[in-house]
Amino acid sequence: MLDQDITYLPGVGPHRKEILSKELNIHTFGDLLEYYPYKYVDRSRLYRIADLQGTQPFVQIKGQILSFEEFVMGVRKKRIVAHFTDGTGIVDLVWFQSTKYVATTYKVNTDYIVFGKPSLYGGRYQFAHPDIDPADTLQLSDMGLQPYYGTTERMKKAGILSRTLERLTKSLLQRLPAPLPETLPPFITAPLHLISRNDACHQIHYPRSTAQLQQAQLRLKFEELFYVQLNILRYASHHRRQYRGYRFTKIGPHFHHFYTHNLPFELTGAQKRVMHEIRRDMDSGHQMNRLLQGDVGSGKTLVALMSMLIAVDNGFQACLMAPTEILAEQHLVTIRQMLAGSSVRAELLTGIVKGKQRQTLLSDLVAGEIHILVGTHALIEDSVQFSRLGLAVIDEQHRFGVKQRAKLWEKSSTPPHVLVMTATPIPRTLAMTLYGDLDVSIIDELPPGRKPIQTLHKYDHQTTSLYAGIRQQIAQGRQVYIVYPLIKESEKSDLKNLEEGYEALKTIFPGMRMSKIHGKMKAKEKEAEMQRFVAGETQILVATTVIEVGVNVPNASVMVILDAQRFGLSQLHQLRGRVGRGADQSYCILVTGRQLSAETRKRIDIMCETNDGFRIAEADLKLRGPGDLEGTQQSGIAFDLKIADIARDGHLVQLARDEARKVVEADPDCNRPENAILWNRLKQLRRDHIDWAAIS
Ligand code: ADP
Ligand code: MG
Repeated sequence: MLDQDITYLPGVGPHRKEILSKELNIHTFGDLLEYYPYKYVDRSRLYRIADLQGTQPFVQIKGQILSFEEFVMGVRKKRIVAHFTDGTGIVDLVWFQSTKYVATTYKVNTDYIVFGKPSLYGGRYQFAHPDIDPADTLQLSDMGLQPYYGTTERMKKAGILSRTLERLTKSLLQRLPAPLPETLPPFITAPLHLISRNDACHQIHYPRSTAQLQQAQLRLKFEELFYVQLNILRYASHHRRQYRGYRFTKIGPHFHHFYTHNLPFELTGAQKRVMHEIRRDMDSGHQMNRLLQGDVGSGKTLVALMSMLIAVDNGFQACLMAPTEILAEQHLVTIRQMLAGSSVRAELLTGIVKGKQRQTLLSDLVAGEIHILVGTHALIEDSVQFSRLGLAVIDEQHRFGVKQRAKLWEKSSTPPHVLVMTATPIPRTLAMTLYGDLDVSIIDELPPGRKPIQTLHKYDHQTTSLYAGIRQQIAQGRQVYIVYPLIKESEKSDLKNLEEGYEALKTIFPGMRMSKIHGKMKAKEKEAEMQRFVAGETQILVATTVIEVGVNVPNASVMVILDAQRFGLSQLHQLRGRVGRGADQSYCILVTGRQLSAETRKRIDIMCETNDGFRIAEADLKLRGPGDLEGTQQSGIAFDLKIADIARDGHLVQLARDEARKVVEADPDCNRPENAILWNRLKQLRRDHIDWAAIS
């Protein structure tokens, strides 16, 4: 019944069907049932005009229009006012548009119910653009909370309003078999005091009270999150049981050589702990699927290298995949330095490695003569074949999705161990959903001697002191990044911005050596410019966000971010992480115009307040919602949650995960009769929500 085409619902013809499916992705009865209201307004009671206080958000009054009055406010601007009374006082109903419609539709001496937000104006309450219904058409007694459904411009033009959806949903609920089939077994719902699915579906559309609404929301949110978790955990458990993993039993000469001769410093406690976790995984007989979280500069590259050396010591190859060419190149340079004097061979494969060079590289790789391959997405192309790939490290994973990870597994008969590294700390509840199939290691400690970066906010008319500061730092031998925003690499005006800025900076800092990097440059040029800065030949690097991830220049101590309002929180944090990598005090200067939106203001304040990536990630999630977080779109698990909100319902995510885990642990083969209801529902959801299936 729920998969019936929506045109079977009276009131929905081909035209409405087309609009509903295009605009809201509603094709079936079930889709409409799950199109939940985004807000509710209490329409169960009538207020007396004499009792209005200006503190009520929305109120409902019942009375009659005494008279109309029209005011001309400009050439084509009119305002129409209806003086309205219920016998206890008078209010003004005001319209600034559709004045003609108002004057011809509403009548004096007729009972109306008026619904709107009162505001005090000239000593009298007024309702701007209120909802008006003839009193005899509304049954107040059965109104309760009125649901409001989201609509789009196109829907409004076609006359499909929130009220229309309300009517359609009501008639749908009357048509559906009663009660609606249950989707959670009592051993889950009873201890948590969750109401039945049938009640929840009715009450979410027609709550009689706030208490009812809350019960319905709780039940539906839990259910939604529960099935997301059940899907992830069942998949992870299945995967673990199905695939054996290579066993790396020993630590051999390559690791020891590195550890005793080339490791330039003592490992931090967190690095040691994480290495321990990784070693245990790689020797467990199961495939490792581990997420390594660590703030920028926490030393993840070193952990990656040591893990790769263990793979090599056990006769396997390893690869390290980075999101950009610059980063891949930098990783290779770092790794080769750290491998000095060892026989481990590390090579680079990116899109720019072509022709003969590429052929040789690929044949050496398949012959097993290359031990560590560093590269970009190019690594997952089908033409890249390893002899014995044992470990794949993915750096800055948020640009790689679950599907790409899965492609790596195919490179070997037994899937290689996978270590995903991210510098974008992910709030726990989001991580559970996004990377729910991964085990998590956290580096929560920075190498010793780092001074926390000082972050300051400057308006763009305060640049004099900013430039003075920069000169001072450069005089002390430091280097400086100046970043211009670039939303899309192709946006001409942004590039112009950068070019002009670069010229202006040349006159502001005469005699200083500057590099310039942007996305329109050829890879070779980019690399050359970057190398000049890395080598200390240039003192200022003017750039777009290409330097965002991973670039390491410990001598750089100032990060200036222009038009900082155009960057998201996690981007700002990433950029800031480019400095503060040496022993010197570093600074991050966020420059903005004077007009800031409240949200931008919050972003800037958080940046100035804390260097803690986790706090920033939490704030980011709250400010933007998970759908906008970098990476969630490509991640493979669609974020088309219909009612739950990962940011706000964090405790429910945890609860849902705990319950789902119990089920999967007790029933790994998915065949216990008491769970049939769950496995059947999961199958159905996976069929209906195509994106969910992407995870397996
Ligand atoms: P991440 O990739 O986590 O952002 P990196 O691996 O690039 O960080 O490390 C940042 C810097 O810290 C590098 O210059 C690296 O050599 C240095 N570093 C890493 N581990 C340590 C350590 N234990 N002690 C001192 N410096 C370290
Ligand atoms: Mg890194």
